[in-house]
Amino acid sequence: MRQSPACLFLRQPLRASSITTVTYRVINPIKHQEHCTSTILPKPPFKMSTTQQQQPQQPLPSLPEITRLTSSCIRILAGNPGPFTLQGTNTYLLGTGPSRILIDTGESKPSWAAALRCVLAEEGEGTTVSIALLTHWHRDHTDGVRDLLSVCPGARVLKHQGGKGDVQVEELQDGQRFEVAGASVTAVHTPGHTADHTVFVWEEEGALFTGDNVLGHGTSVFEDLGLYVGSLERMGKLYDRDRGGKAYPGHGAVVPDGPGKIAEYIRHRAQREEQVVQALRSFASLFGSSSPASAAGIETGSEPAKDDRTSGDAWTVMELVRTIYRDVPESLHPAAARGVVQILQKLQREGKVVDVDDGERWKLASTVGSGRSAL
Ligand SMILES: [Zn+2]
Repeated sequence: MRQSPACLFLRQPLRASSITTVTYRVINPIKHQEHCTSTILPKPPFKMSTTQQQQPQQPLPSLPEITRLTSSCIRILAGNPGPFTLQGTNTYLLGTGPSRILIDTGESKPSWAAALRCVLAEEGEGTTVSIALLTHWHRDHTDGVRDLLSVCPGARVLKHQGGKGDVQVEELQDGQRFEVAGASVTAVHTPGHTADHTVFVWEEEGALFTGDNVLGHGTSVFEDLGLYVGSLERMGKLYDRDRGGKAYPGHGAVVPDGPGKIAEYIRHRAQREEQVVQALRSFASLFGSSSPASAAGIETGSEPAKDDRTSGDAWTVMELVRTIYRDVPESLHPAAARGVVQILQKLQREGKVVDVDDGERWKLASTVGSGRSAL
């Protein structure tokens, strides 16, 4: 068999019968996170322990560029490791016959097209991608579409809400099912990270390809927190509770306990919301009409107008951030602020907080009691 140059790097050929990981080339791990992942912040002072504050971030495990995960699933890294993509975007080649399904296409790095060409050649003459499913339109998942079409010109490319530019992308419907020899997947629209985000249920394995909604390491970011949490809840129900099942994320290692990880994400979001509500409530009850930040000796950088502060419980986002995250380096406050804004907007839609002065400040809704949790 004629091999592409990339194949010369392989230590051993892929075989359909081999299970679990086979190591080929290894991309150096990177140590941090981005637009797919969130900045890791210590917990606010309400629940933060000294140990948690001082705990260093764990380095990411190294992932091989090409890994056979099961007899019908091969993971190919997109070759784009970085602070926002972890070890790089995961792309997954599914099936056992000459026609395969591909999930995501990476970021148009030359190594990915070479690796895909190599894997397809190793899988047998004539093996090709017939269907490419995109989880969402972020360039680290979609810029490789043209590379895919250069390797597999006949591939159909599908994404919920279509594509952008001159790339030919078919509309992917919620609930649409795809089948090739050895693999069947069903699309489930799960917005929040982006409006078009879609996960895929892998029927044979009882597993989910989670895109960027659930990652192999850390937590994800989102455009709309309310939609995101709703999607997490929907994803949890896609698993068979008795059977469990893995999560195959858009970035990072395979998660052995998919439902457990989703439940952990939901708890994490709920805790963050509770911390904001606690902060708003505590400010009012502890400090009355004076600024909690100034009472705590913290420089807030701006003095709120007195007329809106008479109630003692309307605060700017940055005042909340500076108080809740007062033990976090100030350089991380902007990232924290984006998350706090998302939480406030979600709580507002739920009638638990109200904005004052065109969203400049926020306070608990009068219907939210001061002595118990609103969540
Ligand atoms: Zn991504």
